[in-house]
Amino acid sequence: MRHRGELCGGLPGLTLPLPLPPIVDLQLTHDALLSSTLNHGLKVMGDRWTAAVLLGAFTGVKRFEDWQVQLTIPRSTLTDRLGKLVKLGLLRQRPYQERPRRQAYHLTQAGLKLYDQVLMIWMWERRWGQRARSLPGYLRHKSCGHPFLPVLACTACSEKTGMNDLTFSLQPVPELLLAENLSRNARVTSASTQSMGQGLRVDRWSLLIVTAVVLGCHYFDELGRVLGIVSSVLARRLSGMVETGLLLAQPDVADARRMRYRLTPASRDLFGYLVCFSTWASRDYLQQPSAIRPVHKACGHRFVPKVLCSACRAPVLPWEVSFSDKPD
Ligand SMILES: [Zn+2]
Ligand SMILES: [Zn+2]
Repeated sequence: MRHRGELCGGLPGLTLPLPLPPIVDLQLTHDALLSSTLNHGLKVMGDRWTAAVLLGAFTGVKRFEDWQVQLTIPRSTLTDRLGKLVKLGLLRQRPYQERPRRQAYHLTQAGLKLYDQVLMIWMWERRWGQRARSLPGYLRHKSCGHPFLPVLACTACSEKTGMNDLTFSLQPVPELLLAENLSRNARVTSASTQSMGQGLRVDRWSLLIVTAVVLGCHYFDELGRVLGIVSSVLARRLSGMVETGLLLAQPDVADARRMRYRLTPASRDLFGYLVCFSTWASRDYLQQPSAIRPVHKACGHRFVPKVLCSACRAPVLPWEVSFSDKPD
């Protein structure tokens, strides 16, 4: 089914009456969003520290102390995230010193499959993140010898692809929807103690809200319905995202009392990460189809992302890239 997109609407200067944007099927969007591989993947990997630790691993960090220095991450948080990544089979430990015994952390074959999304995180952090200065500023593609930027492209036709080049069909996955409902019911008693993740620029909830806006939900009641969260919590999350520049809130043209939420350049730039992460979660983590299925309008194929080198247009593999602080 075709779905209302973020940028649907009229062309400026058009004199004919504009067609009304199709109404979002809120129940279908709710079921698809909550049973998406994105949502279920983000539950295990969707906090900013996990993403930051992984980014470090791909830029060559292997020792506990080096992550601590690079990220200024609390010791217990780093222990927890490294333990989780080892448990997920994405990192493995190898001793690098016998006495006292010290462990280094290496990416596994499964961990290397996260590379596309890590390149997308690198791009986003470099442009919008608060950690830009602690990140290597340049990538070099060893195969072609050139500095490059990662380019998101369609696997079927190899063309560069952005959010506006896609339509989305929604097909909820019953098994994952059931798992979501069960976990929500189990959390009801502890809901009041859950942290809002204050101070986090991008977390699981902000990524889900961005996705809901991509799928055409622009109003408070629509977002509350598709995310299935109570008004007070949604209000806090939305105002936090407006403050940190991830959403724009504008009075609706038809009813100024109603706010319309739109993506900003910073949240639009998260799209590459969202689609690479969702694909990884579907293929390599959950082995389930994604409930949110992008189709590349230009070639008509289901959109499966791949990341290309901007210089030679070849797919980028982790061992073919060097990171540096200088362009040469
Ligand atoms: Zn294509
Ligand atoms: Zn290249």
